[in-house]
Amino acid sequence: AAGAAPLTVTILHTDDLHGHLDPVKVGQGTYGGYARQTALVRKYTAQDTNPLVLSGGDTFQGTLFYNVYQGLADVLFMNYQGYQAMAVGNHEFDNGPEALARFAQKAQFPLLAANLDLTQEPLLRDLIKPYAVLNVGGQKVGLVGAVTPDLPLISSPGDKVKMLELMQSLNNSVKALQEQGIDKIILLSHLGYTLEQEVAKTVPGIDVIVGGHSHTLLGAFDNKDFPPSEGPYPTVVQNPDGNRSLLVAAWEWGKVLGRIQVKFNDAGAVESYEGNPIPVSADLPEDPTAKRMIETLSVPIANLRAQVIGNTTAGLNGSREIVRKRESAMANVLADAALESARSAGATIAFVNGGGVRSSIDAGPITFEEAITVQPFGNTLTVLDLTGAEIKRALEHGVATWSESKGQFLHVSRGVSYTFDLSKPAGSRVTAVTLDGQPLDDAKTYTVAMNTFTAGGGDGFDVFKSAGGRRIDTGTLDVDILVNYFKAHPTVDAQPEGRIVIV
Ligand code: ATP
Ligand code: ZN
Repeated sequence: AAGAAPLTVTILHTDDLHGHLDPVKVGQGTYGGYARQTALVRKYTAQDTNPLVLSGGDTFQGTLFYNVYQGLADVLFMNYQGYQAMAVGNHEFDNGPEALARFAQKAQFPLLAANLDLTQEPLLRDLIKPYAVLNVGGQKVGLVGAVTPDLPLISSPGDKVKMLELMQSLNNSVKALQEQGIDKIILLSHLGYTLEQEVAKTVPGIDVIVGGHSHTLLGAFDNKDFPPSEGPYPTVVQNPDGNRSLLVAAWEWGKVLGRIQVKFNDAGAVESYEGNPIPVSADLPEDPTAKRMIETLSVPIANLRAQVIGNTTAGLNGSREIVRKRESAMANVLADAALESARSAGATIAFVNGGGVRSSIDAGPITFEEAITVQPFGNTLTVLDLTGAEIKRALEHGVATWSESKGQFLHVSRGVSYTFDLSKPAGSRVTAVTLDGQPLDDAKTYTVAMNTFTAGGGDGFDVFKSAGGRRIDTGTLDVDILVNYFKAHPTVDAQPEGRIVIV
């Protein structure tokens, strides 16, 4: 706006922390942990020019801390570190609007999502806003939030939370800020790196995008533990104003802390910038208060964590790359466990959505912590009657987005096999489905077990949601199903065995 002066800010940012209070192993090293992150954030907020501490969302889901505290552990650290705003991530809805409302009530900073219509959701409508304004160095900076348009498909927001068209709602928020004379605008984006580049090209007026959702590592690192960076930090995109939008992101789990200094000129456009994410490595100091908080929060879960519930001769691979594209030993175990649990209800087939398999299990003793890390959602098991034709439609849907590694890829229990052909178009890729060696009969009814999320149409499985046959919610919890399976099979020896064939 006319008359504004230049401004320098330093953005410190995280995204996709997913409940990682404790450090994690990366390569040969150990990174992250809220105690080190706190020390680092406090150090930079003390020394940097006009620091802003911001989150790109997905604080919820991923460790036992989440299962016990549902984000209320994390928010203590966010308040203590002085976060000034957070994008709402899809996982913030994993335990429904109630858990998110409890988190938002504790947060001493705004939660933002411009593309949500919350007017019909009284739990959240006063707690989540499209945008916010911060006073920084005597000037106003606008912050806008966005959450992935996939939210209703991939989490559990309930039917009172409506999505708004993304670009239009961002335009509206940016304009509302500009009408207040605010010309420095930061988008807190839980949209993922690809969509963020589209937004930068499409929506005028956004100077910086603090990203999240795609767990993207940007920047230059001289660090053998890290995978290759996926792009420059910042990634610079020409925006429709003819100015530059800077895209930044901070990978995942607090393994790095994003830090970028941005100079705005007197027209509110980006003039220059400098920065790189900082690896939160084990040689950095820990904040002693944060460390004690973690120790205290760990007490109620220490016993659960260590309990050994089974054994596996080989590792059970459930990594994101495998489980969303091909047969996985971990997913096979989960499908077999679901089938065993649902046999008494007549099930002969079980499905597991690939995205519902959240990690791998190492060879050797299996702890409860590992089981809950694999099955953290707290789903119960549903048993559905489906025709052979409906089952085929579901399998088609599972492979329709194969190249995008979405959560909808379906795993099957022992005795079921299916083949798909990637040279064929989506919708006609599945070439064979058999149960105990016999081709599935389109007209016959089969009793099928799957988690409540998938049965209710999660991951876009309308075919399950609208199936008209018998439907029973068994009420058995996903993690209990897995624990019971390990107890019934004290030594598991599972490998991919040709249940899913790609031609
Ligand atoms: P991350 O969670 O790792 O940050 P993200 O935000 O992109 O990444 P995904 O990991 O893609 O989210 O998680 C979305 C997937 O999780 C969905 O596609 C679905 O397969 C699975 N999922 C979400 N909620 C549930 C649930 N309640 N039960 C089972 N699976 C679920
Ligand atoms: Zn996400």
